[in-house]
Parts: sequence; C-alpha cells; structure tokens
Amino acid sequence: MSQTKETSILTIEPTDHPTPADKRKAMMANPGFGTTFSDHMVVIHYSEEKGWHNGRVMARQPLPLDPAASVLHYAQEIFEGMKAYRSPENEILLFRPEENARRFRHSAEVMAMEPIPEEIFLDAVHKLVDIDRDWVPDGEVGSLYIRPFQIASQPFLGVKPAKEYIFAIIACTVGSYFKDATKGVPIWVSENHVRAVPGGTGTAKCGGNYAASLTAQAEGYAHGCAQVVFLDAIERRWIEELGGMNVFFVMNDKTLITPPLKGTILHGITRKSIIALARDKGYTVLEQPYSLDQWREDAKSGKLLEAFACGTAAVITSIGKVCDTHGDFEIGENGANNPVANELRESLINLQYGRAEDPYGWVKRV
Ligand SMILES: *Cc1c(COP(=O)(O)O)cnc(C)c1O
Repeated sequence: MSQTKETSILTIEPTDHPTPADKRKAMMANPGFGTTFSDHMVVIHYSEEKGWHNGRVMARQPLPLDPAASVLHYAQEIFEGMKAYRSPENEILLFRPEENARRFRHSAEVMAMEPIPEEIFLDAVHKLVDIDRDWVPDGEVGSLYIRPFQIASQPFLGVKPAKEYIFAIIACTVGSYFKDATKGVPIWVSENHVRAVPGGTGTAKCGGNYAASLTAQAEGYAHGCAQVVFLDAIERRWIEELGGMNVFFVMNDKTLITPPLKGTILHGITRKSIIALARDKGYTVLEQPYSLDQWREDAKSGKLLEAFACGTAAVITSIGKVCDTHGDFEIGENGANNPVANELRESLINLQYGRAEDPYGWVKRV
C-alpha cells in the first residue's frame, strides 16, 4: 500500500533524541487516552503555487503558526481518528485506512479546504506508523491511536477559504477508552443542544462539531453521565448519535436498528463494519429512524435488549442507562447483560488485531 521512495513526497528525518526504551515502556504501561505521544510526526504543506509539498516525517514538535492563521479565527480544521494494532505474529496492522483517507477528503470538501490526495494521506500514515512502530503496544486492548488533521494556516483575517494548509499526523499509545467496555455506561439525552443540522457540517469530522458539543457534554457530566446522545435538530425526536460515536439498538427479534446517514450523522467506519459483521452473523440490520419515545417504550416492554455506541476510539460501548429530564430508564439490566454487543466487539477486535482470518480485506499490514 505504501508508496515507493521515488513517488513519495515525504522525506524521513528520524529524531536525534528518541525516547529511551525503558522510559518508553514505562510510559506505555499506563498510557491513558491521548497523552502518551510517540516520537515523530508528519507535516505536509499546501500552497496554491506549490501544491502539496515539503512533506516530512520528523521529530514531534510544536507547529509554528502565525497568530493570524485562519484556523485560529474561522475554524477551518478537520481530523481523522484511526488505530494501528499489533498482531500475535508481531505484525503492525491498520484497519480500513482507505476509508479514513476517503472520509478526510469528504470532510475537506464540506469545510471548503484543499483535499489532500488519498494516496498521500495513506503513505503518510504508513510512514509514521512504521517509524514509530515501537509505540504500538502488545497485549489485549492497547493500540497506537493515529490523529491526522489539517488546518488553514494562511495568515489573513478575511472570511474565505484559505489558500495555505498544513496537514499533520501525530500518534499516541492508548489503552481502553472506557474503564470497562463490557459494562454499560449511563448517557445523557441532550434536549437543549443539537450536534448537527441539515445543511450543516454533521458529516464532516471537524473540530467545530466537537466544540459545539461540549456544553451538552458538561450538562451530561453534571447529571452523572459519561456521554451525550443527540436528537435531530428539527423535531427533537429522532436519535442521531453521540458526540463522537454512532449508535445501535438491539431488538429481541435478531434485528439491529441504527439511524440512517441522512446528512447530519458522521459516516462511522466502525458503524459500517458492524453492519457488515452483524449481517454475516444472521442479524437483520435496519438503517431507519428511531425515536427517543420508542426507545423508552421498547426498553420498558423488553422489546429492546441492548443499546450500544461505537467508534474507533472506544470500539463498542454498551449503554446501561438513559437519563433526561423526563425520567431515566435502564437497558438490559443496567447494561450488565450485553451478549450481542460483546459478540460483535469480539469479532471486530479479533479482525483488527489480526487474531482472526479477515475475509473482508479490511486489514492492511504496515
Ligand atoms: C469519529 C466519529 C464517529 C465514529 O467514527 P469511526 O469511523 O467509527 O471512528 C462517530 N460520530 C462522530 C461524530 C465522530 O466524530
């Protein structure tokens, strides 16, 4: 998958102060999420005259940025989230990276930014993971979280699409996102805030969507909830997704329901993979609207057995309790009993970690 030296626009400049192995191992023993960074980064520049140029894999360091850089004022920024996994055979694996490259292009188009060619994106991911492969942990749950992002770096204060961009990738060793993924987490239903509106930026992975979700998240935390589920902006009735994860409902007739991708929901790669895995296991998967009222009713009647959220960072997380101002309700014995979520999680991570045969061609070696 990675390009040959001749066609790659990246030069490789290994750091002259790599983290010593014993220190790295100590850092990786308890990495947390998003704080244990690897030694290198990728930086590629874009200008109208030169196109994508000056691509480097180099020591991780601060980005020099003019204070007028338009990202700091008008938020032209997009990102991706993906992971590298270590297989039992000690191979380093990526999961459907070309899907991230394609979605990054889509996000760029939504935000009127110059899209980076998908082959440059993939080459850069491969080269960073390769040089920092010692930061990919072994064991059951850890991985190297990869964060490609792009910012408008042109120094000007006019409101228009920038003509200069920086594309960069950083990476960090991560453990599990939630403490115990098999236990259900309580989630808060946001009634006062929405995440995305029709015609807005909901299908782009842009920082602005996250900034706009933080008041709702703070409200959720204040009510003892780990995450927020957002309703549609117009009727405030239909479940859309969490701040950074898609959502599935498991019914008692071997059917899974997930909200349809109608312009306000992020096209999750985990979501897409779960739909394929579940269908191959004999589940019916319906991409159809599901309302909060229905959710409450089905949880109470027993028609709904489980609900879970999914995304690259947290994989599959069961929802134990749903809280809002109209009264809380529990799902599947407060999330203690999630056989379907557990079955799907096992299948997914066995593929991602190279512990199972991959009939889909999803796994790419670095
Ligand atoms: C990243 C993200 C997801 C999950 O996408 P994956 O490709 O599965 O990681 C879901 N919703 C939102 C809003 C996201 O930003």
